[in-house]
Amino acid sequence: MTQTSITRSWVASANGHADFPLQNLPLGVFSTGGSAPRAGVAIGEHIFDLQVALEAGLFDDVARSAVEAMHGGLLNAFFDLGREARVALRSRLLELFSEGSSHRGAIEAQGAKLLPLAADCQMHLPARISDYTDFYVGIEHAQNVGKLFRPDNPLLPNYKHVPIGYHGRASTVRASGTDVRRPKGQTLPAGASEPTFGPCARLDYELELGIWIGQGNEMGEPIAIGDASEHIAGFCLLNDWSARDIQAWEYQPLGPFLSKSFITSVSPWVVTAEALEPFRTAQPARPEGDPQPLPYLFDKRDQDGGAFDIELEVLLLTEAMREQNLPAHRLTLSNTRYMYWTVAQMVAHHSVNGCQLQAGDLFGSGTLSGPQSGQFGSLLEITEGGKKPIELASGEVRKFLEDGDEIILRARCTRDGFASIGFGECRGKVLAAR
Ligand code: MN
Repeated sequence: MTQTSITRSWVASANGHADFPLQNLPLGVFSTGGSAPRAGVAIGEHIFDLQVALEAGLFDDVARSAVEAMHGGLLNAFFDLGREARVALRSRLLELFSEGSSHRGAIEAQGAKLLPLAADCQMHLPARISDYTDFYVGIEHAQNVGKLFRPDNPLLPNYKHVPIGYHGRASTVRASGTDVRRPKGQTLPAGASEPTFGPCARLDYELELGIWIGQGNEMGEPIAIGDASEHIAGFCLLNDWSARDIQAWEYQPLGPFLSKSFITSVSPWVVTAEALEPFRTAQPARPEGDPQPLPYLFDKRDQDGGAFDIELEVLLLTEAMREQNLPAHRLTLSNTRYMYWTVAQMVAHHSVNGCQLQAGDLFGSGTLSGPQSGQFGSLLEITEGGKKPIELASGEVRKFLEDGDEIILRARCTRDGFASIGFGECRGKVLAAR
């Protein structure tokens, strides 16, 4: 296939758009001015207002039901409709926005009412999140972090048998752009025997893939590995902000608690499983000597095409860099291929005990680091726990995040013969503790 076979859109800014060409069509919830949040689709520099489009009679049948389910500005009921609704909506959107579409005139006639500029809109969380679970499937991260604490034995014995996870806090998940207030908490200063209370001094980011659950399951009825991908509505970027000093003191024996629950940021656009189809890839073969997954975690089709090739990037912009008009500093360039478990394995494992998943539940993959320096998905790994500060073009150094620092996550999928797509940004700026 050549580049010329890529379908173009009559929305000029969509063609070659880094994130939102015609082939992406991610779903989200937005508002303009003080209006009520409502569902939309990103296309180029614009957002297609699905509510206005519905009222204009642009949808029929299954696609119509799909958009009707988004009423009220939350995608939960739409996610619950499953794959058929997503596919019907996507195929109708492709029809509406492809070059040569007979609907162009009708859509353009409504102007910014139907197709506002994204720059004029405010993005919101796409769904009401009942539960948020953070996994730990980035094996390079698990090894890098493990090495800091256990140089001879970085991975715990369960790692290659169990997709490790913990229950996070849904109530403090926020859309990109929400400021990050530096948390306070208990920490144990080096060499001390008693904890102190105060602002976190080791604030960090974690580069993760977010997974939006589509159709859930009844309590007591696990989702089989072969069906698991049918239960995933889409994907986003997720920053699992982490207070490392609070974490180090609190995490044993039950895992992270207040070190993570002060905020989790997500990119607001839901990139659908269908948009990511060209970027599926085989799960990398397990190294010689690694155990085979237990049968409830193994599916041939999942192994053959259940992984994704998504390039992930983290950028840092400090207050001084902003003042000096310096470009953001790239901290991380990684990829979703560094996941030891597939997203289907996460779904199958999460529900195997009968736990109920619900439409709009959110999973984090765990930090996705690569094996090389430059690919580490957290400052904990980059600076080796604060031992090796990084230098910035502004002349500043960083061990962990300072007040005023902004972290920006981006993602991009590329493959010869296909339009590249991206996820949009997941941003957050650190504010001083209060
Ligand atoms: Mn995490």
